[in-house]
Amino acid sequence: MAREARKRSISVDGRLTVIAGCMFAGKTIRLIEHLEAARAAGRRVVACKHRLDARYHPDRLVTHDGREFPAIAVADCAELAARADAAEVVGVDEAQFFGRELPAVCQTLLAVGKTVIVAGIDHDMWGQPFPPLPQLKALADKVEQKYAPCAVCGQPAELHQRMVPVVDGNLVGGPREFQPRCRTHFSPPPLPPPVYE
Ligand SMILES: [Zn+2]
Repeated sequence: MAREARKRSISVDGRLTVIAGCMFAGKTIRLIEHLEAARAAGRRVVACKHRLDARYHPDRLVTHDGREFPAIAVADCAELAARADAAEVVGVDEAQFFGRELPAVCQTLLAVGKTVIVAGIDHDMWGQPFPPLPQLKALADKVEQKYAPCAVCGQPAELHQRMVPVVDGNLVGGPREFQPRCRTHFSPPPLPPPVYE
């Protein structure tokens, strides 16, 4: 239904690619590959990340193995939309930081013919579907599902296991805090899970 809501009257119809998966699944490197290809094709590219995710590298996307792409750290969906205005191709990393408004912003960008590529975590640390990724997948022309090897058995993992207690409500973390886990080797943390409406 949401796809029907897109404006079809424009000459160039935008396309949405969603790169989803657990932590350490290679989502950012895949996003960079898309953006580099677009840039090499001469298209105007803007990559955005959320300011909450910009503590260490505010002006670029950076992968665990050191690949980089220039990026703008934005405060919210409104700033994302403003920064995307001049671009033909818009990349968004760590989409889960942008919250429930992001699908509508993506639809607005698509409606004016932009190509949008969004990468993000699609399950929270309780293993629940994590907005807005499920909603973005439902809108996507293409979903690239990425997996990391389970830290226990090596099978493809779609979840990430919290390895240390949550302190002061800070759920963000890196390799010290989380491991990729398949569903067999995943157990949710002993905290009440959030309820997403
Ligand atoms: Zn496993």
